[in-house]
Amino acid sequence: MIELPEATVLAKQINETATGKRIKKVIAAQSPHKFVWYYGDPKKYNGLLAGKVIGTTLNYGGQVEIKADDAIILFGDGAGMRYYTKDDKLPVKHQLWIEFDDGSSLVSSVQMYGGLWAFPEGGFDNKYYRMAKEKPSPLTATFDRTYFYALFGENTEKLSLKAFLATEQRIPGLGNGVLQDVLFFAKMHPKKKINTLYGKDEDELLYSIKSTLTKMIADGGRNTEVDLYGRQGGYKTILSRNTVDKPCPVCGTIIKKEAYLGGSIYFCSRCQKM
Ligand SMILES: [Zn+2]
Repeated sequence: MIELPEATVLAKQINETATGKRIKKVIAAQSPHKFVWYYGDPKKYNGLLAGKVIGTTLNYGGQVEIKADDAIILFGDGAGMRYYTKDDKLPVKHQLWIEFDDGSSLVSSVQMYGGLWAFPEGGFDNKYYRMAKEKPSPLTATFDRTYFYALFGENTEKLSLKAFLATEQRIPGLGNGVLQDVLFFAKMHPKKKINTLYGKDEDELLYSIKSTLTKMIADGGRNTEVDLYGRQGGYKTILSRNTVDKPCPVCGTIIKKEAYLGGSIYFCSRCQKM
């Protein structure tokens, strides 16, 4: 699943490769997919987008927003995308295919779920889009100690760290994927309860959020995901499906996987404390 680091890398790569290109044709919803969401009728995407020129691309958390003149193409959390030149072979199955004048294409084939929205600028009222745009990125100076401390309150006391950090878009783009290494470096277990944090724990957590995400972006995203060109990210995940049942790089304890809160958690039971 695309999360903040990968969305940041994708936005940068789209700016490098697609800016200034004119959209020739758009085909949306060609391959049926139960868990892909569109804005209105996807058959109208071509009418909305054809002839428009790609402007600036930004990411808000795990979402990637591409401007095309007065329209927006928005890839929701989880929706990956690939760039193909005119000589590349396109995937057979896809949910969004944007072809440019020069024959190159941007294609999204959604794995699990994702939103592929295209709409006139300002015309899309979606809670997650709004929240992702309004809330500060954890990588900015605005996301400081004061901001982070204010996320804790009476209603978060009983939550686990996973529930606190990776649900309800409390921190847009920080999902169940990047969460694992954030907690590994903070030396805290995903099931550890907020009301057991004390002393410098919150500061350690804040430090790990910023430093882990920064490293993931610097390395081109996690190695469990691919970038715009189909290349695996250079950040080697410590805790992911790639490392389960392997020894922890710090202490050698075997890394475990468990189902928890609608997704898998990975952890080192020795390094990460409850
Ligand atoms: Zn360990």
